[in-house]
Amino acid sequence: MPLIVQKFGGTSVADSEKILAAARKAIRAQREGNQVVMVVSAMGKNTDALVELAAEISDHPPDREMDMLLATGEQVSVALMSMAVDRLGHQAISFTGAQVGIRTDNIHTQARIQSISTERMQRALDEGKIVIVAGFQGIDADYNITTLGRGGSDTTAVALAAVMNAALCEVHTDVDGVYTTDPRLAPEACMLRQVSYDEMLELASLGAGVMHSRAIEFAKKFNVPIHVRSSFSDTPGTMIVEAPEPSNRPVSGCAVIKDEALVTLTGVPDQPGTSLAVFSKIASRNVTVDMIVQNIGEHGKADISFTVLRNDLPVTLAAVEEAARELDAEGFYHEDTVGKVSVVGLGMALQSGVASRMFHALADSGINMLMITTSEIKISALVAREYAEAALRIVHRTFGLEKAPEAATTTTSTQQTGNAPQGEVARHAIDVVKRLQAMEALAIDEIVLDESQARVTLSDVPDHPGIAASVFDAIGAAGIFVDMIVQSYARGGRATISFTVPRDTLQKSEKLARRLSAKLGCGPVSSAPGVAKLSVTGIGMRSHAEVAIRMFEALARAGINVGIISTSEVRVNVVVGGDQGAAGLKALQQAFAEAQG
Ligand code: ADP
Ligand code: ASP
Ligand code: MG
Repeated sequence: MPLIVQKFGGTSVADSEKILAAARKAIRAQREGNQVVMVVSAMGKNTDALVELAAEISDHPPDREMDMLLATGEQVSVALMSMAVDRLGHQAISFTGAQVGIRTDNIHTQARIQSISTERMQRALDEGKIVIVAGFQGIDADYNITTLGRGGSDTTAVALAAVMNAALCEVHTDVDGVYTTDPRLAPEACMLRQVSYDEMLELASLGAGVMHSRAIEFAKKFNVPIHVRSSFSDTPGTMIVEAPEPSNRPVSGCAVIKDEALVTLTGVPDQPGTSLAVFSKIASRNVTVDMIVQNIGEHGKADISFTVLRNDLPVTLAAVEEAARELDAEGFYHEDTVGKVSVVGLGMALQSGVASRMFHALADSGINMLMITTSEIKISALVAREYAEAALRIVHRTFGLEKAPEAATTTTSTQQTGNAPQGEVARHAIDVVKRLQAMEALAIDEIVLDESQARVTLSDVPDHPGIAASVFDAIGAAGIFVDMIVQSYARGGRATISFTVPRDTLQKSEKLARRLSAKLGCGPVSSAPGVAKLSVTGIGMRSHAEVAIRMFEALARAGINVGIISTSEVRVNVVVGGDQGAAGLKALQQAFAEAQG
C-alpha cells in the first residue's frame, strides 16, 4: 500500500476546528488507499510564545533547556490530533520524536538528524492506524531532547517520507503553494505549479520561509516529491521535484533576508590558508556564514567580506577578532543594517543578461548594491536594509514574475500515490538501510574543474548605483556570456568588481572594461588570461559550513591561493591560478573522497 506523509504547519493546527479539519484530510487520504503518517507543528504561534516565556526568565537560557521547552509545543499538537482522528471514528497513535527514534547530533536548537527507526511507525501503520509524529524534535545519543531549528517540522516530514519510502510528502500550510516570492511582501506574486529541488533549495536558504531548506536537502537526496498546498482548501499547489517541466523564464522566484550583517576583514595576506583561518574560527562557533566575497588582492593583500545573520554578529565578531590578530590583518569592520535580495532560476544558467537586468532595475530606482555574488542559478545583492523589501518588489517586477508562468500540469495526492509502484519495501531493503544511516550527512555530487575562463577585475569602482549595471550591460550587449560575478564591499566608497568570461572573449571584455572604467570613473582594470574555476556541488553546501572549510583546507595544504570565492546552497566555486587547476582538483577530490557518493 502506498504511503503518504502529510505535514501540517502551525496555522493549520491553530485551533480545534483546524485540527479536526486536518484529521479529516488524513482520514480521507487513508480511505483513498494510502497509509498515512502525519507530522504536526506546534499550534499557531505557540513556539513564539514559549520563546518569549523563556526570555522573561533569562536573557541567555541554556540551549538544552530551550529544546526541552520548545519541544512541548509539538507534543500538545500530536496528542490533540490523535484525539481528533479517534473522535472521527478512526484509529491513530501519536509519537514524540524520541518515540520513533529520531536520533540527532547534540547541537541543541540546530540539531541535524542522524537516523530514524521505522519499526514502531510501520507496526502502527500495518495495524491500520494513522501515525502522528511531533515535528521539529529528536533526541541525541544521551537522550537529551533536541530541536531542528525554527521551521524544522518540514524537515521531520520529509525525513520521515525518505525513510518510510513514501510516494509523496504533502506540506499543508497557510498559502496555496510556493509563490514567485513571499505573497506577504509582494501581493502580486504568482503561484508556481512546479519548482525544482535546486531552485527551492536556493529560494529557501535565501529567505523564502515557506519551506525549511534542510527539508529540501532531504527531498533532493532521497528523491521525495513534495506537494506544498493549502490546508484550508483542496486546490492543487506546487510540486517540488527533481526536473520540472522546462520554462522559458530565466528567473523562477526571488527572496529577501532583511536581517543580515556584513563583516569585512581588510588587508589580510593574499596567500594560501587565509580564508581557512577566518572561516574555520567562525564555523567552530556554529555560525553559518552566508555570502562570502573575496576579491582579487593588490600588493599581496586582500579583503574578505561575508555576511551572517544579525543575531550571530556578536559571536562572529569575537571569532573575527581572533582571526585578524592571527593573520595580522589591517583591521575589520561591520555593518549591521543590510539586507539581501536574490533571484533564483534554473533558466539563468542558459541565458545571459539576467544579472545586468537585475542590476539595472535596482540602479534605476537609486538602490546601491554593496556586494554581489552569483552562482549558476542565483544572483544575490546586498543592499541597505531600508531598501531590501522595495528591492525585492523591483526585481520581481523586472522579471515579470507577477504573470503566471506557463501552465505546467500538476498532480493531486491521490494520483501521485496511485502511481506508486507496489512492493517497494522489499526491493529497496538495502536502500532503506542506507537511508536510515546517513540522514543529514554531507552529500557531494561532483567536483568540477573549468579551465575555459578568464578573469577581468575593475578596481576602485565608485560605490554608487548604476556602475555594475553599465558594466554588465555593455559586456552582455557584446554577446559575451559572464559566468561568475563578485563585487566586494568597499568602505570609503570604492568597490572591486571581478567577473569571469570565456577565454576567447578576454581581449574584447578587457577592452570594454577599460573603456567603461574611464567613462565611469573607476580605477585600473586587471585581468588573468587563464584562471581555473573549481566547483564542489552537492546538497546543503552552505548550511554544512564544513564544505567551504574543507575546500579551503585542501587548497591551502596544496599551497594554492584562492582568488575569488562564491557560495550558494548547491555549490561552492573558487577561482585559482590557471596553472593550479589540476592540482586543485586533485586536492579537492582527496578531501571529499569520503563524502562523494
Ligand atoms: P507553516 O506554519 O505552515 O510551516 P510558515 O509560516 O512556515 O507556515 O510558511 C508559510 C509562509 O511562508 C506563508 O504564509 C508566506 O508568507 C511565507 N512565504 C515566504 N516565501 C514564500 C514563497 N516564496 N511562497 C509562498 N510563501 C512564502
Ligand atoms: N514549531 C516550530 C517552529 O515554530 C517548528 C515548525 O513549525 O516547523 O519553528
Ligand atoms: Mg514553516
